[in-house]
Amino acid sequence: MPINYKEYHPKWKLISKLIRVNRAKGKCEWCGIKNGSVVKRNADGTFREPCQTDWDMIHSRIKHSHSNMTESLKYHGFSKIVLTVAHIDHDKTNNRFNNLAALCQKCHLSHDLKQHVDNRKYGRNWKGEHQLRMSL
Ligand SMILES: [Zn+2]
Repeated sequence: MPINYKEYHPKWKLISKLIRVNRAKGKCEWCGIKNGSVVKRNADGTFREPCQTDWDMIHSRIKHSHSNMTESLKYHGFSKIVLTVAHIDHDKTNNRFNNLAALCQKCHLSHDLKQHVDNRKYGRNWKGEHQLRMSL
């Protein structure tokens, strides 16, 4: 999802890098998956990296279908992990480090999805459970 930097702190790129690199050491802070790794996720939350046969299929698709790496990975059920920084309470102005988390796509999406569901259920400003999670 493209990021609109106007909604973020003027030094967001630096803040984000400090969280992803210095604090999280390049790993999702919720599931532990490594930034930049290529994985296939299973429904039970486990994941595996491509074996040589998978790589052969991925490269074959690029060669024979005029596909690029991202599309071919997706076609074969793999994705490259890209860490992004989430605001745990969904308030983009709350940049306290304990409100920020370096997350993979799956964790970030499920966190955002939870907020969307809560917004529909309880109204846009309801943040009860997220505030509870932060105090744990
Ligand atoms: Zn994760």
